[in-house]
Amino acid sequence: MMAPNACMVSPQAWFRSKGLHARKSLGQNFLQDAAVAQAIVDRSGVGAEDIVLEIGPGLGALSFPIARRVKRLVVVEKDPELAAWLTTEIAEKNFQNITLHAADILQLDWMAIFDEMLRDAEGYRLVIFGNLPYNISSQIVVRLVEHRHRIERAVLMFQKELAERLRAEPGGRDYGRLTVLLRFCAHITTLVNVGARSFYPKPKVDSEVIEIRFPKPEPFPVPDEAALIRVVRAAFGNRRKTLKNSLMAGLPGVRTEDIAHILRTIGIDPVRRAETLDIEDFIRLSLAISAREIMTTER
Ligand code: SAM
Repeated sequence: MMAPNACMVSPQAWFRSKGLHARKSLGQNFLQDAAVAQAIVDRSGVGAEDIVLEIGPGLGALSFPIARRVKRLVVVEKDPELAAWLTTEIAEKNFQNITLHAADILQLDWMAIFDEMLRDAEGYRLVIFGNLPYNISSQIVVRLVEHRHRIERAVLMFQKELAERLRAEPGGRDYGRLTVLLRFCAHITTLVNVGARSFYPKPKVDSEVIEIRFPKPEPFPVPDEAALIRVVRAAFGNRRKTLKNSLMAGLPGVRTEDIAHILRTIGIDPVRRAETLDIEDFIRLSLAISAREIMTTER
């Protein structure tokens, strides 16, 4: 019997046969190991009750194993050459449950896509999947957080360095804006470590597949999310500065003396650095700052 993903195309052979080169500008590092691709899909646990959006299907290394398991798969591929080839492959392999959009995922209206995906599919769970192009990975994380109310979870491959930032603990240099953003609304688990040799072309670093789950209710319900995001962005605006100075630079609407006063009132030393604050500190800080802003505008 044929192994489930035995027909996976070799990216190296594909590019050679077309006289093309993988595009660095599109973060193209393709999985070339069928067993690794299959292991990622198996470990993700996607199944018949899932509807999946895959970002950057490339040559379908993950797409076909995913499509064999789930109800519906929508793939979004920016590279027109790959999208055209994949369209033919989907038809030839007779996958009725795959829809392809030849588009830039960052230019699409995610809500409209989700509506389309979940039409007539009540009770199904929405999962975002992808071996992400490294150059848009951070932007995708931000989009996920913005759209998390519709999403059950995401299974994403990141370069190791970014993966370490996403699951960092307070106090270290990896802990930053993205870590805090995820920590207030998500649970993160590492599913698979993938060595650089599993890709063509071979990247300089290893990768990691992470599950980002958005539990409902959320781990830290936040009354004013916009304020939290603004405060976190300001706090990490310049990591060499003290918290007070970063907030002064990043929140021009709040008076300097108010910032120092707020920090002391909530028991945070103004000379601490942003990376030493945990998510509860950030929530208290953003609440205190937005309360002070309201008072200032009402004065
Ligand atoms: N999923 C394939 C695999 O694992 O072999 C390919 C992964 S490769 C790291 C990233 C893929 O994302 C490429 O196919 C690339 O063309 C595509 N891509 C890059 N930027 C994109 C964007 N903004 N929107 C959609 N696809 C994009």
